[in-house]
Amino acid sequence: MTVHPLPRTPREPAPESVAVVLGTRPELVKLAPLVHALGPAARLVHTGQHWDEALSGRFLRELGLPAPQLLTGVGGRPRAGQIAVSLGQLDAAFADDRPAAVVVQGDTNATLAGALAANARGIPLVHVEAGLRSHDRAMPEEHNRVMVDHLADLLCAATPENAAELRAEGIAGDRIALTGNTVVEVVRDRLPDAAGRAALLARYDLTADGYLLATVHRPENTDTAGSLAAVLGALAELAADGRPVLLPLHPRTRAAAERFGLAPLLARLRVVDPLGYAEFLGLARHAALLVSDSGGVQEECTVLGRPLLVVRRSTERPEAVTAGFAALVSPGPELVAAARARLVEGPALPARLAATPSPYGDGRAAERIARLIPGLVSALPQAA
Ligand code: UDP
Repeated sequence: MTVHPLPRTPREPAPESVAVVLGTRPELVKLAPLVHALGPAARLVHTGQHWDEALSGRFLRELGLPAPQLLTGVGGRPRAGQIAVSLGQLDAAFADDRPAAVVVQGDTNATLAGALAANARGIPLVHVEAGLRSHDRAMPEEHNRVMVDHLADLLCAATPENAAELRAEGIAGDRIALTGNTVVEVVRDRLPDAAGRAALLARYDLTADGYLLATVHRPENTDTAGSLAAVLGALAELAADGRPVLLPLHPRTRAAAERFGLAPLLARLRVVDPLGYAEFLGLARHAALLVSDSGGVQEECTVLGRPLLVVRRSTERPEAVTAGFAALVSPGPELVAAARARLVEGPALPARLAATPSPYGDGRAAERIARLIPGLVSALPQAA
């Protein structure tokens, strides 16, 4: 399957006619290039799943996104409540001002709520980053992905592997477009230049290739004292080897560490508040090693050319592993051993990765998706 060609003569959708529904930091990051490509046609709806200054407010500004319609009462509820409360408000919003199409990205509760709301009103649905599968049915995100893909009218697969997963589930080929992943363009766009990165390293008192950068927030690593202690303990052991470990601490992880009495482990790391996107990319670009359970970081490391250890049981993004950027490890001794094995390679490893192409495409995914949307709107029967 080849990458979807750029359609030649796109018609401009009407102003604010494409509702882009999102609710978390990674959705803001990866939908930003598409919102820019859609221009005045885009209308943002933020469910408020993660609504605070550090995880959303700052990202809207930094990524140059328009002010969203913000739903209320969603954050902090359990999963079903988040979906139900978002769905009710989205349905009312779509009844009030019907969009020509709805765009969702990824696998969050906001993604599923947006997809259900579009489906309920017969509005064409676009799923960005379709076809990711961890095959781990213990992850709520896996269920969200599968449901959204089966509802969507246009499934934008980032990689041939994602497209193959969709076809294997019987989804018709004419609903699938191989577009690449918008992460490539957002990283290229937001990565600070060399002078900006040097200033960042100075501000954090770090030297290029002389530190580790870690993020931890998934339930599998934060829901029990044992799992969180295993990750933080391994990071503390690595810090004791002499390279500082910078840990921008997600609010969920901070709360869990306090609850489980793990402050002494945090004290052995360089703990900072969650970073802005450009700051995170700039610091990731020069880290000797990344350690993370994040989905987005598994893609970003391939554009930045940096090695990553993924502290997870399974991944829905095997491409970074296959291409040699990332490896899956369990928290604890396996993480320590894998990190030491990579660090001992020195600059040779990042040099090799910098020369390896990202499996996530050519940096034109958002443009492809934006040009496919008008055709989708006119091709599908519209409900009254
Ligand atoms: N990120 C950031 N600042 C940080 C940590 C992460 O900007 O301090 C970015 C990271 O580059 C990635 C996104 O946040 O683009 C990942 O978000 P998260 O890990 O919350 O979600 P996931 O990718 O696992 O769905």
